[in-house]
Amino acid sequence: MEIRLTSERGFCSGVRRAIELAERAVESGKPLASLGAIVHNRQVIEHLSARGMRIVESLDEADGATLLIPSHGVGRQVVSELDARELSLIDATCPIVLNAQQVAHRLHREGFMVLIFGDASHTEVKGLLSWAGESAMATTTTPELSASVRRIGVLSQTTQSQTQFAAFLAQLMDSQLASLSEIYVFNTICDATTRRQAAALQLASEVDLMLVVGGYDSANTRHLAEICSSTGARTLHIESADEIGPSWHCFGASRIGVTGGASTPEWVIKEVIEKLEGTKC
Ligand code: SF4
Repeated sequence: MEIRLTSERGFCSGVRRAIELAERAVESGKPLASLGAIVHNRQVIEHLSARGMRIVESLDEADGATLLIPSHGVGRQVVSELDARELSLIDATCPIVLNAQQVAHRLHREGFMVLIFGDASHTEVKGLLSWAGESAMATTTTPELSASVRRIGVLSQTTQSQTQFAAFLAQLMDSQLASLSEIYVFNTICDATTRRQAAALQLASEVDLMLVVGGYDSANTRHLAEICSSTGARTLHIESADEIGPSWHCFGASRIGVTGGASTPEWVIKEVIEKLEGTKC
């Protein structure tokens, strides 16, 4: 059995920065609380929790601790609340997410209806929506726009696929162009996501089985798995090596590809490789 790894995998710059900021804070000995999951990866959260970081769901729970804003950012209401309180703060919002928030806000201020290509239930997208005004909408399918909408601004959740965003835009133009007078499109998908997806797509086309390692709640890991699957390669999304148990089988694959999402630590990927190497297929 041959095991091959994508060259682009694991921590992106935004995740790395958030984790380094959190590590520095816990090392200083001061109490630290992350406002929601710092990144969407269980092992990272367990690692930082073991060193003293707490996860809180509201500012009220900070209880004197330094509050860390996660890599996927927070909504406008939270920023207003933070401004009004005197809390010690570490802002680990990824600069690329911050840029997408600013794009959404600018479009809204300039009177555009903002359309976000993304999963409306994801934390980053909820944050983007909060900057984009009440008329904003997040969707991955072609929306039905009200007849009164004439000017739209479109952007994407940072972890979506370029191909799917392009297909969404094409369908949007096809169905809505005649009723619109002005359309702005901002490609806010991040380069790290695009590079990881391209590498995963390439490897998936060369192997019989792809393992995509990362948090089940990690949007970019889920998208990697969808992209690998789209090549026809059998694809499994796993969170850790623990899932490769005695009953695990590799479906007769002679070549297995492995990649990891942008919030997956390299040591978790290494454990998966070691487990695979010790497993009979
Ligand atoms: S995936 Fe991209 S946007 Fe998201 S944290 Fe990483 S670098 Fe930032």
